[in-house]
Amino acid sequence: MSLDGPYDDANIFAKIIRGEAPAVKVFEDADVLAFMDVFPQSPGHMLVISKTSKARNLLDAEPETLATLIAAAQKLARAQRAALKPDGIVMTQFNGAPAGQTVFHLHIHLIPRWDGVALGRHGAGGMADIGELTKQAEQIKAALA
Ligand code: 5GP
Repeated sequence: MSLDGPYDDANIFAKIIRGEAPAVKVFEDADVLAFMDVFPQSPGHMLVISKTSKARNLLDAEPETLATLIAAAQKLARAQRAALKPDGIVMTQFNGAPAGQTVFHLHIHLIPRWDGVALGRHGAGGMADIGELTKQAEQIKAALA
C-alpha cells in the first residue's frame, strides 16, 4: 500500500483497539494505547498507537493527534528505560509500504537497544513468547506508576 488510500477498519491495530484481537497492553487511556510488539526487534519493543484517529501514517495525521501521541511515547519511553535499563531507545515510524510500513494505522515504535546487541530486522522476526511479553509489560507498567 502506498502513502495514499482509504483507512481500513479491519487492520490489526483497529481490531486490537476494539478488543477483537489480543494484545499485551502496557497503557491505555481515551486517546492512546501502548502494547508489546508481538514480533519484537529487541526485548521490550513497544508500539504506541492513536485510538481516535483514522490516520494511516504521519502524513495523514492531525497535528493534535501527533501531539498527544508523541507525549504518550515520551512517557512510555521513560517507563521503558526505568524498567528495562536499555542503553538507548529507538523511536521510529514508517510511512507507506516502500518505507517498511506493514500496518496502516498511525503508530510509533519504541525499541530498546543495548550496547553491542544487534537490532532484529523490521518485519522479519519471529513471534515472541507471550509470557515474556507479559513480564516486560508488567515491568514497564510498574515504572509508569
Ligand atoms: P509497521 O511495519 O507498520 O511500522 O509496524 C507494525 C508492527 O506491528 C510490526 O513491528 C509488527 O511486528 C507488529 N505487529 C504486526 N501484527 C501484530 C499483532 O497482531 N500484534 C502485535 N502486538 N504486533 C503486531
